[in-house]
Amino acid sequence: MSQPPTDADARRSIPPVICYPNDTLPVPDMALYASALATARVTDTATAAPRDACHFHVPGGCFFRITCTDGPQVGDLNLWHAQDLSERFYSGKTRALHGTHLTTGERLWSAFPHLRPMATIVEDTLDWYGIDKFGGAVHDVIGTRCDPYTGNLLQGTQYHHCCHSNLTRALAQATGLRADQAEPHVHDVLNVFMCTGFTRDTGQYFMKASPVRPGDHLTFFAEIDLLGALSACPGGDCSSEHSSDSAACHPLRVDILTPDPDSLTGWQEPAKNGYDRSHGL
Ligand SMILES: [Zn+2]
Repeated sequence: MSQPPTDADARRSIPPVICYPNDTLPVPDMALYASALATARVTDTATAAPRDACHFHVPGGCFFRITCTDGPQVGDLNLWHAQDLSERFYSGKTRALHGTHLTTGERLWSAFPHLRPMATIVEDTLDWYGIDKFGGAVHDVIGTRCDPYTGNLLQGTQYHHCCHSNLTRALAQATGLRADQAEPHVHDVLNVFMCTGFTRDTGQYFMKASPVRPGDHLTFFAEIDLLGALSACPGGDCSSEHSSDSAACHPLRVDILTPDPDSLTGWQEPAKNGYDRSHGL
């Protein structure tokens, strides 16, 4: 190990600075969304079977709600612009803007060059959980998605029901693309209901049993036309392992809710990012 400098303690005690102070982010009108949600009716439903994924469409200005129906289960969520798969959820920038775990009032942002809100969280029945003594919290944007490549790297396995593969099949079914065409569009997820953090001593990514119970849900307002895919992770509640068939798994339901159009007066789809894309050339 390298010799620490004489002022090592002083260097460690410098207070952190928030990378992206979010007091200049556009503020969603949560009261408007709440009044619109109060008028909304379920107009479509999709269900992710255990160890499988479903897809769904949400018109901009509608809501979608992910509900735990049968038993503790985490879900891996991907979002794309319904007419342009290149505009997809960017978990890394969402993490940089809002933090490691999301809740009500926070937004799912799209990838460059779009960088605009795709969806805003309007209800979170797990908002009581907070941050536990291990540093764990729910609905993270720090994990990626369980996948067969990492399983093969670490255990030499060939497993076909990781979230990555489930999302690939769901996108292929939604679009008619072949699996090899759909796979590159699958991206890092919002880990719905999953309880995760980083260990304080080694900085390693951890998971623990999700606190989700039947009836718990997470509701989003679609800021643009969305194609979504949700995988019911083979890890179940992610209390032990994933990437295998050993965990107890349950379905997840996705409801599409359509509000009274008069309830959204004043709302408009967010504009794409204003950077001119000349990159100094
Ligand atoms: Zn998974």
